[in-house]
Amino acid sequence: MSALVLRFPAPEPTPRFWYRCRDCGHSRPLPWRAWPCRETTLAAVRCGSCASPRITAHDTATRATVRLPRPLVVPPVRYRCGDCGTTGLTSDCLTCPACLGAGFI
Ligand SMILES: [Zn+2]
Ligand SMILES: [Zn+2]
Repeated sequence: MSALVLRFPAPEPTPRFWYRCRDCGHSRPLPWRAWPCRETTLAAVRCGSCASPRITAHDTATRATVRLPRPLVVPPVRYRCGDCGTTGLTSDCLTCPACLGAGFI
């Protein structure tokens, strides 16, 4: 028998990524350790309340926000971002500082 009695559950680490649903306002942490590089991961994100894909992801570490779903069609009057090559992400999977995650300038 241990004499140690935990009165409260151990504090969990504060989630780094959160989302807010633009349809219903639902806000929840995202189960990511780092910004996902793969578009399929981003495309699969849905609101946990109304299942809407129209959510805004927020990175508490970099204060970056990314609107999802990200545009799949190239805007005709905009230019490809030379920093990230239109992915909107740096090689570290962070939001590209040049185009702010849009992939185009
Ligand atoms: Zn929602
Ligand atoms: Zn960029």
